[in-house]
Amino acid sequence: MVKERQIDCDLLIIGSGLSGMCAAYFAAANGLSTVQVSKHTTLGFHSGLLDIAEVASQAATKSWNSPLSAVREIIKHSADHPYSKVAKNDLMDSLSQIIGFLKQEGLDYSGSTDQNLQVLTSMGTLKKSCFVPSTMQACVDAYVSKKPSLIIDIKGLRGFSSRQIVETIKEKWPTLTSARIEFPGFEGYSEVSAEHMAWALENEKNLMALIETIKPHLNGAAYVGLPAILGILKTGKILKIMVEKLGVPVFEIPSMPPSIPGLRLKEAFERGLQRLGVLRFHRQLIETIERAKDGVFHTGWDKDTGSVRIRSKGVILATGRFLGKGLIFNNGEVKESLFNLPVAHLEQKQNPYRIRFFNPQGHEINRVGIETDCGFRPLNKNLKPVFNNLFSIGIINAHQDWAREKSGSGIAVSSAYQAVQTFIDDLAQAGLCQPKARLSS
Ligand SMILES: Cc1cc2nc3c(=O)[nH]c(=O)nc-3n(C[C@H](O)[C@H](O)[C@H](O)COP(=O)(O)OP(=O)(O)OC[C@H]3O[C@@H](n4cnc5c(N)ncnc54)[C@H](O)[C@@H]3O)c2cc1C
Repeated sequence: MVKERQIDCDLLIIGSGLSGMCAAYFAAANGLSTVQVSKHTTLGFHSGLLDIAEVASQAATKSWNSPLSAVREIIKHSADHPYSKVAKNDLMDSLSQIIGFLKQEGLDYSGSTDQNLQVLTSMGTLKKSCFVPSTMQACVDAYVSKKPSLIIDIKGLRGFSSRQIVETIKEKWPTLTSARIEFPGFEGYSEVSAEHMAWALENEKNLMALIETIKPHLNGAAYVGLPAILGILKTGKILKIMVEKLGVPVFEIPSMPPSIPGLRLKEAFERGLQRLGVLRFHRQLIETIERAKDGVFHTGWDKDTGSVRIRSKGVILATGRFLGKGLIFNNGEVKESLFNLPVAHLEQKQNPYRIRFFNPQGHEINRVGIETDCGFRPLNKNLKPVFNNLFSIGIINAHQDWAREKSGSGIAVSSAYQAVQTFIDDLAQAGLCQPKARLSS
């Protein structure tokens, strides 16, 4: 007989990109019984850099050194932007809670909201970001000092050429040099993957062999840069040993997906959410969800191994845009894929998706998405919440252009925080829960 599992929870979170992970953390840390269901995680695409803001793209293309100044500029030019819905203290608090949580799970970040840091990319360009994995901090210092530094690449690793990096940035950083090595144990392979190397380095014998392979290339370099391959679970320890044995600071450079710093984020969230008691279902698409008259959401699925039925007092939609499949393009229109929520469309109705694709202020389609109130509840055509217990967070929401603004992580973290807080306040008001504490500390 096929078994049926019935789950009752406070909050169902759909999606496991950064916004879904953060919402699951905020909810569980605050004592809500939390279930997370997702088709796949998008964190493997994430470079690991936590961008808050660099450009207010609707205003100009100026690159801001201060993330908070960029946020202020974004808000000034867009009263509907997700950042306009979050108080400054809540933005700061949400970020510091996530950085603290990641640290507790063994993933250290450097940075502050006062200053964007600059790191090298695998293209040889510089990228600004607010919080950088501590494995990239030495790159920030090396670039500021412009000291002679060595970039190592690995034969067979696609999309990462130290010669190209050195060539691209030589005018800004003339003392940079390059070397190519073969990864010990993978000699003679025409292709090697970052993920295989990262797992291999979890073994100290392989790490020591890599260090010995790098040593002859040092030639007095003050810093050594490598593609991001320094392990997945024991990264801090691996970096420490490399620095000790090579005698110089070592840094990672983010490389092509699957991104190792993104996988580290995924592992850290999964560990922490399990510890907090979040019930998670992977590789599971939610195809339909209904809301009963009493306001409770019902969803589930049937498999050969059994059925699952979930009842939840609230739902957070963290389903992303076109990559995550929260938004789909259907019959010439952008639609929200699960609830068929109204999508805030472009102002220009004539041929709306083809206008000014290369406009430096961005294409209007990037700003299409779900319209919400200040609690991140989706709005209907009359600008009233569709349901008081349904929330949409992250990059599915309208009026932001995360890629151009470099605001992806900040929007994900702060909207997750605000939506969970709104839900908790509503539950408490209705006498339906006794939250441990307010989210804000
Ligand atoms: C290549 C790439 C690189 C990036 N690098 C950076 C970076 O360096 N720094 C930075 O700050 N930001 C970066 N971002 C942006 C960052 O990834 C997003 O801001 C962040 O992922 C927030 O997205 P999200 O959680 O809202 O949605 P997504 O990450 O798109 O997640 C959507 C989730 O919803 C799930 N889902 C959708 N529909 C359903 C359904 N019906 N049932 C179950 N699950 C469903 C998907 O499987 C997925 O888990 C990058 C993005 C990309 C694409």
